[in-house]
Amino acid sequence: MKDRKNEILVIYGKEYGKMTRRLLEEADLAAQIGDRKKRIGIKPNLVSPVPPSDGATTHPEVVESLICYLKDHGFENLVIMEGSWVGARTEEAFKVCGYRKLADKYGTELRDGQKERSVPVDCKGMKIDVCACALEVDFLINVPVMKGHCQTRVTCALKNMKGLLPNKEKRRFHSMGLHKPIGHLAAGIRQDFILVDSICGDLSFEDGGNPTSMDRIFAAWDPVLCDAYVCRLLEYRTEEVPYIGIAESLGAGSTDLDHAVIRELNLSESQAGLPDRDKVMRLSEAVNEVDSCSACYGYLIPALDRLDQEGLLKDFPEKICIGQGYKGMTGTLGIGSCTKDFTHSLKGCPPTETQIYDFLKEYLAGTGRLEAGRH
Ligand code: SF4
Repeated sequence: MKDRKNEILVIYGKEYGKMTRRLLEEADLAAQIGDRKKRIGIKPNLVSPVPPSDGATTHPEVVESLICYLKDHGFENLVIMEGSWVGARTEEAFKVCGYRKLADKYGTELRDGQKERSVPVDCKGMKIDVCACALEVDFLINVPVMKGHCQTRVTCALKNMKGLLPNKEKRRFHSMGLHKPIGHLAAGIRQDFILVDSICGDLSFEDGGNPTSMDRIFAAWDPVLCDAYVCRLLEYRTEEVPYIGIAESLGAGSTDLDHAVIRELNLSESQAGLPDRDKVMRLSEAVNEVDSCSACYGYLIPALDRLDQEGLLKDFPEKICIGQGYKGMTGTLGIGSCTKDFTHSLKGCPPTETQIYDFLKEYLAGTGRLEAGRH
């Protein structure tokens, strides 16, 4: 079988089911998998219970087309597996994002990573607890969403594997600064094929709300090459996303786009937008962040965006502290239970975007700057 690790196949359009089918046929996926008895894992991104049109979760049309293709080629032992981020329930995400319906329609197994037992895996020098379901498959198909991320800049193939960790391990990843453990995880969970939903990902926030219409799906075999390509599409240098280089150094793939074969199966009708990096950078200037979880920080930034749009963020009187690094410390203004010893702290692990927005607005009112901020 030809090694296709250096290939990326790209297709554009609005008929997501048909586009997926065409990609899978071009990739000759059935032949790549081989034995029809293999257990095939499908890993979408269902970070939280929001519909795919919000730009955070994998479109079920893509996964449905993948299931149909696999069944048409005689593969029946299929399992969809995912664990939403800390603070959201996967079961709810399965329902809201259309995966419960899909599983019922095709008799496909659904596994909730938040309810799985975990198994310690040696990921090239770092022990990581991984959901058992991820280790029980013979062939893993990753179906991430190409998105921006307010802590790591981008999220796609490599970071999507974090959904196959128990919540406790997800938190530990954040306490280690994300990049190093994500890089190591690539050495512990092998991805055999990647089908990227680049239909309308939010290019600033991981949990959506600002979808950017791109109408694109692409396929890759190498998760490192896939994420390097994502950096190119979003005009980041690969070095700006350190976990990609770490994964490469551990042998999980190659960032060598110069020797990649990138084949577009048709032409793009629309030009993808780029993330509003300046906005995220500007909003984050109001924050002191130390090892915060994705959900906590991911809810804080949109809440700050709302305050900013109301003219309330300018001259905010205090830095807003967030993250596991503030556990046991004192300070003035903090978000999340990790800052419970602060003078003003919002409880919750994580608190929601609306709770953060209301809390900060109330705090501003208490300082007498609410009216001043409006001018
Ligand atoms: S409160 Fe702390 S532990 Fe909880 S989600 Fe936020 S940063 Fe993570």
